Amino acid sequence: MSREVLNKVSEKRSRNMSAIKSKNTKPEIAVRKLLHSMGYRFRLHRKDLPGSPDIVLPKYKTVIFVHGCFWHRHENCKYASSPKTRKEFWENKFQANVKRDLEIQEKIKNLGWQSVVIWECEIKNKEIKDRLLLIKKD
Ligand SMILES: [Zn+2]
Repeated sequence: MSREVLNKVSEKRSRNMSAIKSKNTKPEIAVRKLLHSMGYRFRLHRKDLPGSPDIVLPKYKTVIFVHGCFWHRHENCKYASSPKTRKEFWENKFQANVKRDLEIQEKIKNLGWQSVVIWECEIKNKEIKDRLLLIKKD
């Protein structure tokens, strides 16, 4: 991504932009804390699984991806806004991200693992705990 583009996006977006590549992001840490409080044992960033998932629960053969709404295009989410300039550039970029996510999830499924996607905007919802509880029940 060129510097010119980087400068054009808002500060919030550029924070998200760095988040897509970095590990141990705030939302990820929040999910880890929650899992820990629920008694889950997990491993982080396992390179031997497709997409190097953020959080891996080996006992349940489950991986958890913590996705930023903007970059991973959370459907109907207010945080997944579309930039007004350079539409085509962004569309291509977003499509590539979504395609990649789906491919990774497919690969994980083919290995006999389950993948759970937690959206950044969901982390503060109470329902998230219920979703995480389902992992134990599956
Ligand atoms: Zn969202």
